[in-house]
Amino acid sequence: MTLDLNGWWSDFAKLAELLFFPSFCRICRVLLEKPGERVVCNSCLDKIKPCSSPFCLSCGRFFNAQGTPHLCAACIRSRPTFSYHRSFSLYQGVLKDTILLFKYKKYKVLGKFLAGLVYQGLKKDDRLWWGVEVIIPVPLHPARKKARGFNQSRVLARELGKLANIGIIEGVLVKSVNVPPQTTLTARERKKNIKGAFKVKDKAKIKDKTILLVDDVFTTGATIQECSTVLINAGAKEVRGVTGAQA
Ligand SMILES: [Zn+2]
Ligand SMILES: [Zn+2]
Repeated sequence: MTLDLNGWWSDFAKLAELLFFPSFCRICRVLLEKPGERVVCNSCLDKIKPCSSPFCLSCGRFFNAQGTPHLCAACIRSRPTFSYHRSFSLYQGVLKDTILLFKYKKYKVLGKFLAGLVYQGLKKDDRLWWGVEVIIPVPLHPARKKARGFNQSRVLARELGKLANIGIIEGVLVKSVNVPPQTTLTARERKKNIKGAFKVKDKAKIKDKTILLVDDVFTTGATIQECSTVLINAGAKEVRGVTGAQA
């Protein structure tokens, strides 16, 4: 009897893969068997599409109607401190499930995939990219980062930086106050809750720079608005924002 080492090795590799990666799609439970499939199957991921609705030319909120991009009523009343923001799509369906798996189950491989989607979906929007000098991820408070294990916005920012060939700076915009989670709060409460939570540590690094802020989800815009205000007050020239999805 000869020992089939190749066969043994490939069985071992399969077993190792099963141990390290879930073998079933975490969304539809189908067996993951296609090359490169990790955590979520390709047919689920294929369901994620960019939102084609018109959007506000300032805050980037999608309009639930046909037409061309224009300013929303809120931005006509009072323009945000950031000049422009775009989300890849709406925070629903498979995109929402994928973001939740990435953020709370620590599947960083999904972060890379999401950043690729965002870049593919928005790369032609010159208003978003033109003249951007640095990318800054929306920071987590160190205590939250420790609990979660990583900052999901940093993973997205790093991948987007690679794809767009723009440098990312970290540790300059920091979250110095660990405010309660925003998820259950109203728009007004979110604004109040987040106020004063961020600060700029090294003003020289952002002085006169055009900055692109990166976050996973845009809900009321309170977080991007507060980060942007702090950056502008610290000497940034212009702040824009990009997010994976908007709720
Ligand atoms: Zn699936
Ligand atoms: Zn708007």
